[in-house]
Amino acid sequence: MTRIAARLNRIKPSPSSMAGQRARELRAQGRDIVGLTAGEPDFDTPPNVCEAAARAMASSRTKYTDVGGTPELKEAIAGKFRRDNGLAYRPQEIVAGTGGKQIVFNALMCTVEAGDEVIVPTPYWVSYPDIVLLADGKPVFVDCPPGNGFKLRPEDLEAAITPRTKWLVLNAPNNPSGATYTLEELQGLAKVLLRHPHVWVLTDDIYEHVLYDGRRFATIAQAEPALKERTLTVNGVSKSYAMTGWRLGYGAGPAELIKAMVKLQSQSTSNPSSITQAATVEALTGPQGFMEERKRIFQQRRDFMVEALNRLPGIECHAPEGAFYLFPSCRQLIGRRTPAGQALRSDEDFVLHLLDAHNLAVLQGGAYGVSPFFRISFAASQAKLEEGLARLRSACLALAEA
Ligand code: PLP
Repeated sequence: MTRIAARLNRIKPSPSSMAGQRARELRAQGRDIVGLTAGEPDFDTPPNVCEAAARAMASSRTKYTDVGGTPELKEAIAGKFRRDNGLAYRPQEIVAGTGGKQIVFNALMCTVEAGDEVIVPTPYWVSYPDIVLLADGKPVFVDCPPGNGFKLRPEDLEAAITPRTKWLVLNAPNNPSGATYTLEELQGLAKVLLRHPHVWVLTDDIYEHVLYDGRRFATIAQAEPALKERTLTVNGVSKSYAMTGWRLGYGAGPAELIKAMVKLQSQSTSNPSSITQAATVEALTGPQGFMEERKRIFQQRRDFMVEALNRLPGIECHAPEGAFYLFPSCRQLIGRRTPAGQALRSDEDFVLHLLDAHNLAVLQGGAYGVSPFFRISFAASQAKLEEGLARLRSACLALAEA
């Protein structure tokens, strides 16, 4: 019998990946499932990016490359940081890997020792705590309630820091809440961090370009340049360029950390796909104008959904400032009985009920560390959103009447 290592018992499969898989399985069984779980834009990769990939293949750029990325890709990434964030990085301060997820994984694996603490503001992207656990670390959750706009406050950060704190993980626009930080809010957090030089910052900026209401993106190394020497800025092309399947993420930070990450990568995945790297050079250096149009479409869907959700009995939904998720509360429905007589004890029960009785797939807030909430992705067509909404409406009406 295969004996699986005990460390695997510390983690669970990614709930968002599993939900997608479950929806596909149910569809294969003939069920008409509306899936609003996907964390990926429903747009196509821009044609100029696909053409760059085709050129790479046709010109035999299909071989191994430097483990941490080609010189051209690092130059493109450095150019992106200069253009979008006013940050200067040298090639040895940049690493490209197989998605933003791998960059987070490698950074934590390279630095976290048994018992080290990693501060994870809640709600969080599902993978942070599990990666910390795989690295033998201890996730320290800091509650960021809706009343604080789901944002980390300086006083809560201060209270969470101990001598064992290794990292603070920041993620804005946030998955799942959509919370973003202004430059001034980041400066407030930076003030605390300046008092604790042993704490490093991993900022996951993967939704940088998905921001609403004319908000401007800010990142911590820009808000406080003195933190740059202990910040790893993570980004990638998955969300901004609709390239989730291409698998390219990157990190920029101190050369010593980057060197360790490349070393780890050299014994695991090696370089990200050479073809994807060529495509990413085009994505980062080619025309950027299409993003404004995509942002406009996302914002229209957000406005439509927030308004409609707030009209449903038992649902309360704030308007996310960025990313493409809604994170409504279903608090008023907890304790209610389904028409089949089952009492809903949690957001997980609610989400399972939506899937079983209404063929609607969404994700429970518990997967993101807060209950009773649920996450709806609006990276879906208007028709699909309307159908999802109709199913949610009939579920909520039936529960509210019960
Ligand atoms: N970080 C956050 C906050 C995400 O939501 C995701 C994907 O859902 C990732 C990182 C992973 O992105 P990638 O496709 O680059 O691995």
